[in-house]
Amino acid sequence: MAVMKLTRALVLLVLVVLSWPAYAGTTLTVETAPTEADLTPYLEVYEDPYSRFGAEDLRHESFNAQFEDLQRETANYGFSNSDWWVRFSVRNSGARHRTLAFKLDYPLLDHVDVWVLSGDRIVRSWETGNRQPFSTRAIEHRDFLFPLSLASEEKQTVYIRVRTKGPVNIGLTLFDAPTLLAATQVEYLVFGAYFGGFLLLALCISLLYLMDRQVAFLYYLTYILSYSSYMLAFNGLAFQYLWPEAPEFGQISRPVLLTLSIIFLLQFCRSLLGIQRLSPLLNRGVTALQCVLVGVLIAVPVVGYGVLVEPLAVFLLLALGLVFAMGVVAHLKGEAAARYYLWAWSVFLGGVFIYLLKVFGALPHNFVTHYGFQIGSFFEFVFLSVALGVRVRELRIQSNVDGLTGLANRRHFDRELTSEFRQSDRPEAELSLLVMDVDHFKDFNDKHGHAVGDKVLKELAVVLKKQIRRPGTAFRYGGEEFAVLLPRTALDEARVLAERLRERISKDVPFEDVTVSIGVVSCKDGSFDSSAEFFNAGDKALYLAKNTGRDRVAIYRTGMKSIVDPRHAGATAVSEGNG
Ligand code: GH3
Ligand code: MG
Ligand code: MG
Repeated sequence: MAVMKLTRALVLLVLVVLSWPAYAGTTLTVETAPTEADLTPYLEVYEDPYSRFGAEDLRHESFNAQFEDLQRETANYGFSNSDWWVRFSVRNSGARHRTLAFKLDYPLLDHVDVWVLSGDRIVRSWETGNRQPFSTRAIEHRDFLFPLSLASEEKQTVYIRVRTKGPVNIGLTLFDAPTLLAATQVEYLVFGAYFGGFLLLALCISLLYLMDRQVAFLYYLTYILSYSSYMLAFNGLAFQYLWPEAPEFGQISRPVLLTLSIIFLLQFCRSLLGIQRLSPLLNRGVTALQCVLVGVLIAVPVVGYGVLVEPLAVFLLLALGLVFAMGVVAHLKGEAAARYYLWAWSVFLGGVFIYLLKVFGALPHNFVTHYGFQIGSFFEFVFLSVALGVRVRELRIQSNVDGLTGLANRRHFDRELTSEFRQSDRPEAELSLLVMDVDHFKDFNDKHGHAVGDKVLKELAVVLKKQIRRPGTAFRYGGEEFAVLLPRTALDEARVLAERLRERISKDVPFEDVTVSIGVVSCKDGSFDSSAEFFNAGDKALYLAKNTGRDRVAIYRTGMKSIVDPRHAGATAVSEGNG
């Protein structure tokens, strides 16, 4: 059993080695089975630095003698001003006619001219490329696809001339028509899902922004839109579907969209993590890079893409460095969103890494490795969305909390009061409210200083937090004014609590001359028309406590309108403090 396995493995190995492209320039022979073949082993190349050759030279021996075997794994030559010629031959050894197609898999080549020769006769030719209208394509596809039609026993030789300002990447694959059809369906389905996902995400984020006016949503939206548009242009899909007749526009669109998406990405990251607050230095770095990128944006239409490709690559790396640095700083400073943010960029880089390993042959070609880039950035967006959700929740909590005392703030109070008041409308429901103000606090500040005054407010908040249990909530209503909302609490209970608070504050706040006055009001069975009226009643009771000597609790009773005038103070219940 083991011997059999070993033998099979060895045979397989030998087969692999035998079929390994030991030399190039041989003719690819196709038989009847459906095929998909990498043409790289069959390529011969010629670099024409002065653009001297054209269609008329194809049959000349002097021209053909220049071609050499492709002595490397891929026909990628980086940036070059030369014309690059590639040649390969295919022979149909089957008994029947074959319809094939070959694909140049880099859609961003400026000029691609193709001649197909049978014997020394040119049977077909195309002049196309990314700088020609899309209608010059032999087959409508984002990549360059060309048909090849071979009679039985016919041999054809294909000459391709590539002239481009971008990188020269010549990856060629030969397909049988049914195989190509199947592969194209999967490919366009994957792209459809990918860009459909972006569209859906953009829609959700727009709605969230409309509901919740957080500026981070807006930055996220600009990033999603610019990045997905860039990907659309990069994959040749934008040219195919959006501006097929405007190749020059497409030329400018890619660097512009890439630059825009880096600018928006940096803006989004900074706003998502609150970098302005966490690290002024990083924040300045981001601004500086954004300014440089705006300069690039202006320069693109003037100087063209070619000149800017390399600086742009450097800026891209810098941006990635900043993006990670922001995440690490925010994480170290305890920003909750930073964890998801770092995950987002890790999966993105993971996807890119897997894709690169495939490109360099360290990983096999399969769905995951081929679409590693897309899969990585898909999860990047998933995690970024989670990070954004976490951040918005934090901001919402922060926006309800008073910075000095950590108590709920006025804004939160207004909302809670309205909602609790509405609920107190039910039969038997009772709602009480304490309105509290520090006595002679202006004098206290004058005497001890504002900083000590702040300390008092903090200590006072500590007492409130300790004394008030759910469902009661304490709020810092204004400067030295506090409110306590007590749902399901009757007047008597509220009065006892107010009295206890007054006592504890005068005892526990570590400054002798700090006292408070408290107004108490309760409502039941719709005794007030509005929450504002209810609050006013509490305020009136407080006013009474102040007017009858301070350091005391006063209770609102119906008909108290008259006693706003201190002469009527006797009409209400006032409990005096000890001090
Ligand atoms: P009364 O007993 O009538 O309430 O007298 P008062 O001095 O407390 O009242 P007034 O409204 O005249 O003054 C309120 C003072 O509270 C004025 C301001 O200096 C002080 N104050 C308001 N907010 C703060 C704060 O955040 N920190 C400090 N230290 N003081 C504050
Ligand atoms: Mg006051
Ligand atoms: Mg006061």
